[in-house]
Amino acid sequence: MSNGIVHLVGAGPGDPELITLKAVRLLNEAEVVLYDRLVNPAILKHASGALLIAVGKSKSEPGRTCKDQQQRIIELLIEHASLGKRVVRLKGGDPFVFGRGGEEALALVQAGIPFTVASGVSSVTAASASAGIPITHRGLASGFAVFTGHEAESEDPSVAVPFEAAAKIPSVVFLMGVEKLPVIVRELLKYGRSAATPVALVERGTLPDQKIVTGTLADICQKAADIRSPAVIIIGEVVSLARELSGGLVAQAAVPATTP
Ligand code: SAH
Repeated sequence: MSNGIVHLVGAGPGDPELITLKAVRLLNEAEVVLYDRLVNPAILKHASGALLIAVGKSKSEPGRTCKDQQQRIIELLIEHASLGKRVVRLKGGDPFVFGRGGEEALALVQAGIPFTVASGVSSVTAASASAGIPITHRGLASGFAVFTGHEAESEDPSVAVPFEAAAKIPSVVFLMGVEKLPVIVRELLKYGRSAATPVALVERGTLPDQKIVTGTLADICQKAADIRSPAVIIIGEVVSLARELSGGLVAQAAVPATTP
């Protein structure tokens, strides 16, 4: 029996300072790090003693990791942990928010490999905050829900977005939704959301080149035509606070990706 272990670790949304102390320690102690290509390379400096392996999504094809790739990642985790290594599986944001962390954890349990989860700062709240949007706000939004836009057109009830319910939720956030924005807008309008509802897209939130576009359900598709993945879509009255808050919000200078 080897004493290998896998830590599923959140790398945060992009700004290399938005990472937990636990993540830094686990990276420091890691012997092998499997990281998603979307993870800011600046974070990898905490793992200077580890074998670094890039896996999963590439910048040119963000979104879904294909089945074979996901299987390969699981095999690598099991392979290195079985050799007795301390392995970190580093994922963008929080590992259990659309990060397939749950699937990897299940596979580790099946393989008899112990694991831990180190939660991370999710883009859900961090990209929103970085655009001056508090995702809940007394009087404007008593709650929020997060969906994947990837399945916006799916008819499979186990993965489909419940748009009828989403249309009634005060703040709705979509991840992986840029390409499906027209479908998301159409479905929310179909289920009675007002066309005047404010919408924001935040691309590369918390990073120095962050881009924000705001509009309404009526005009966001035209306005956000230049927005690319990774971006969060935020729908709800809280988006209207962005204009007011941007008067005082100073962009948090992120640490440059490489230090001289
Ligand atoms: N586990 C991650 C989400 C993984 S799904 C988390 O908790 O943040 C990948 C999606 O996350 C992207 O398609 C995008 O919608 C969102 N995302 C990740 N980083 C982002 C960033 N810096 N700015 C805006 N959206 C981001």
